Parts: sequence; structure tokens; C-alpha cells
Amino acid sequence: MFQHPDVVGSKAICQQRDVLDVWATVGAEQIADEGLTWTTGRTFYRDHELFSWQFVDRGHSPLPPFVNISQARTGQVLDRCIAGKGLIDVRWGHDVTGIAEDRSGVTLICATAAGSVAVRASYVVACAGAHGQVVRNLLGVRFDGHSFDDLFLICDIRAELPGWAGERRFYFEPEWNPGRQVLIHPCPDSTYRIDWQVPAGFDLDAEQASGALDARIRRVVGDRPYEIVWKTVYRFHTRHVDRMRVGRALLAGDCAHLMAPFGARGLNSGVQDAENAAWKLAFVLRGWAPEALLDSYHDERFAAADHPRPDPAVSRPATARPGAADRSRGARARFPGTPGRTTGCRPVQADRARRYPRPDHRRRRQRRRGGRAC
Ligand SMILES: Cc1cc2nc3c(=O)[nH]c(=O)nc-3n(C[C@H](O)[C@H](O)[C@H](O)COP(=O)(O)OP(=O)(O)OC[C@H]3O[C@@H](n4cnc5c(N)ncnc54)[C@H](O)[C@@H]3O)c2cc1C
Repeated sequence: MFQHPDVVGSKAICQQRDVLDVWATVGAEQIADEGLTWTTGRTFYRDHELFSWQFVDRGHSPLPPFVNISQARTGQVLDRCIAGKGLIDVRWGHDVTGIAEDRSGVTLICATAAGSVAVRASYVVACAGAHGQVVRNLLGVRFDGHSFDDLFLICDIRAELPGWAGERRFYFEPEWNPGRQVLIHPCPDSTYRIDWQVPAGFDLDAEQASGALDARIRRVVGDRPYEIVWKTVYRFHTRHVDRMRVGRALLAGDCAHLMAPFGARGLNSGVQDAENAAWKLAFVLRGWAPEALLDSYHDERFAAADHPRPDPAVSRPATARPGAADRSRGARARFPGTPGRTTGCRPVQADRARRYPRPDHRRRRQRRRGGRAC
């Protein structure tokens, strides 16, 4: 059943400026304000530091280039925003089991605790997530790609780690996670997100029961006190649907594409889908553009999902080999959790935006000119 998501857990932590800009447009600037921006990236091979780099924002936006903040907190801020505006009718507990389209709209059949309910709309945005196979089947789309055997053990821990709040640390084959990688990201509220690449079959419960989880965390935090805020095991996939528009339905987010965590594209690309869909639907519904505008949703967002093409050899969780430092430097934008503009859609989108100028683009430019100081 479509339930309200849990409000714990970092999940997608890195949010890039374009996305912060979208949040600001809908009144959720708080996400950028609360998020943490790290400025140093440090990369290690075994116990040697290969290189570190300072992240300098040369942009002129009032928004930071990216922030780290938990997806759970992002959801809370957005829920509050939705409740405050009264523009959105939120219906939790509605499980879509049928979709029927006709000349004037779409009818969704939903299973609810009170029985089956029909919901009518002019268009739908299908954002049922990775597990939305029912919805993908109803729309008749394929979801081809790859799933990876290795897993990521993720722990959000709260601890005082002096000097770590401004650094992202990436360890290749540390002696304390042999043959695999570990990634540590600072988050707000003295919380650190640690990702360990672990083999298929990894058993988190057994690890915790045996004390191995504590030992694992102690290899990072030493003997300082720490608290586990959230933990999970995550398998990643690279897949996407073959069509992002099916009649009156636009597919968005994980329902349409699953990305390897390299480049922090999961949440970021989902929000960009939603923004692209939202303004186009508004234009069509208000009669400012023909319905054919919606075809550009597929063109642009499919290109973004498909680029870089999800090649398993590229997306495979990398472990460095001696001499890999230079390659690693070049591939920095592909590292998990490293914010980067990896979508290929902007030029097309900019072109469409010129043909159908959007009021909110103008507002954003004005806000930037007279906006907050960097
Ligand atoms: C452990 C973990 C760690 C992650 N780490 C990162 C990261 O570091 N960086 C990153 O970018 N991304 C990360 N991700 C991915 C990121 O969380 C997703 O990209 C993001 O949540 C996708 O949002 P979404 O709204 O498309 O889908 P979801 O967040 O999955 O939401 C889909 C919703 O649709 C509902 N639904 C499903 N089927 C139906 C139906 N038939 N009818 C009605 N509702 C339905 C579901 O209940 C759910 O509420 C991580 C994910 C996980 C699980």
C-alpha cells in the first residue's frame, strides 16, 4: 500500500544547485539553508592518501553548489510546504492497481483501506519508484538494464569527529574493508553517512549480533562515542524505461530510471523530471502550448536518463588498483555521492524554454539578481 515514507535515513544525500533552485521556487528554501556543503574531497588507496582537492564555488548563485541533507529531512520540509499551501490534495494509502485512458483524461483505480476508489485526472505523473513494477506494467513499458551483485552497507552515525564536517572521504581497498570501497559523507547535525561496499549475501543482522558492525564503525570513528541513526543494505541497479511518456502519463523518478549512485543522480534526476513535467503540463492545461509539447518531456528526460549510457563496466563499484590514481582523478564526477552535472538534457530544455518562456524562469532570474549574498 502507498504509505507515507519513513522519516529516517539519509538515502539520497547530495542535492545539486538545480534541484535546490526547484525547491526554492516552491518555497522550500529551507532545504538549502539546512544542508551542509563540504569543501574538501579526500581520496585514499589503502592507507595512502592519493590526493585531495578543494571545492571552490565560482558561481554567482545565491544557492550553494550542492548540499548534503538526508532524504528523510527533505521529505519533511516538502510535506510541511504542501500542507501550508493547500494546493495539493494528498492521498496516502491509495495503491494504483489500474490505469484507463480516454479522450479527455485518465482514470486511476486505487486499492484503499475502504475499498476500490477511482481517481480522475487530465494527466498523471507516474512516480511509483523502483518498486513500481505494477504501474510500469499497466503502462506497458520495459525496464531494461543491470542489477549489481555487490551491496552497500549504509550507516548514518552521529558522532563528534573534529575536522571531518567539511570533508568527503573516499577509501579504495582500505585494509579494514579489503578489496572494496568505503565512502564517508558529512551531513548536518554531526551526522556522517558511511557506505561500505560489501559482498552479495552480506547479513546486516548477523553483523550486528556478532559485534562486527561496531568494530567496522570503530575503524572509522576510533574510540569516540557514536550513535547509529539509521542503517540499511542497498543494492543498486542501472535501468530505465523505454518511453517516458505513454499517452497522458509521464513517468518520472525511480519509476522511470534507476541510476548507479555515481554522480548522485537518483533524487536529483527525479526532481528534474518532475520540474520538466510540471511546467509542461501547466502550459498544456492552460492552453499556452499544444499537447505536442509533452513529447519533449520524453526527448529531454529520456536523454538525461540514458546519459551517460548505463554501461555496467562504467557503473561497476570501482576498486582502485595501484596506478589508478590518475584515472580516478579523471573519473571524479563518477564517484558515488559526488555531485556533478551529468545530464545531457539542458541544451534541449533551454531551447524549449525559449519557445515557451516560463514565468518561473523570469522570477528565478530576478531573485538571483537581488537575492541573498553568496
Ligand atoms: C538505501 C538507499 C540509499 C540511497 N542512496 C542514494 C544516494 O546516496 N544518492 C541518490 O541520489 N539516491 C540514493 N538513493 C535513491 C533515491 O532514494 C531515489 O532515487 C529516490 O527516492 C527516488 O524517488 P522517487 O520519488 O522516484 O521514488 P520513491 O522514493 O521510491 O517513491 C515512490 C513512492 O511510490 C509509491 N508506490 C509504489 N507503487 C505504487 C502504486 N502502485 N500506487 C501508488 N503508489 C505506489 C511507493 O510506496 C513510494 O512511496 C538511495 C535509495 C535507497 C533505498
